[in-house]
Amino acid sequence: MKPTLATVWLDGCSGCHMSLLDMDERLIDVLARADLVYSPLVDLKVFPDTVDVTLVEGAVSSEEDLHKIRHVRERTKLLVALGDCAVTSNVPGMRNLFGVAAVMRRAYDDTVAGPGRGTTPSEVIPALLPTSRPVHEVVTVDLFLPGCPPPADAIHTLINELVEGRTPDLSALSRLGR
Ligand code: SF4
Repeated sequence: MKPTLATVWLDGCSGCHMSLLDMDERLIDVLARADLVYSPLVDLKVFPDTVDVTLVEGAVSSEEDLHKIRHVRERTKLLVALGDCAVTSNVPGMRNLFGVAAVMRRAYDDTVAGPGRGTTPSEVIPALLPTSRPVHEVVTVDLFLPGCPPPADAIHTLINELVEGRTPDLSALSRLGR
């Protein structure tokens, strides 16, 4: 049976998922050797009960992110923090200097023109956590692949090695901020 693979998108810009897609034709080879069972790239709504490898993009910034990553962690054998936002909180973490109230004021009072100005939504948008946190501060992470985003070559090596049952040495493939 092929190993199962999932990808999850928390508070990130989707750049890490775009880098995954930058594997181009190598995606076909990867998908021949692993089943992609959950991802924003495919139309599956429910995270499976058990997944071998899950790549997580983005920081944990909202109550929804927190619920999702705990749910994913419980069902994943090997969890990978993919990209600087997952590894350090990176761009989402910039708001940690200011606090939630100032961020919401900036988003809904200062920068919105017209009738919506000054109205902070109370539905649909999940509540922000006090700070945006890297994934490992919330759940156990097994592997870290830094980069903003990590290069497609590094993601390819990562997945290849993991589906072969090996733990890759990622130190030479990517680094923070690159
Ligand atoms: S690490 Fe960079 S590319 Fe990836 S989600 Fe964060 S900002 Fe986007």
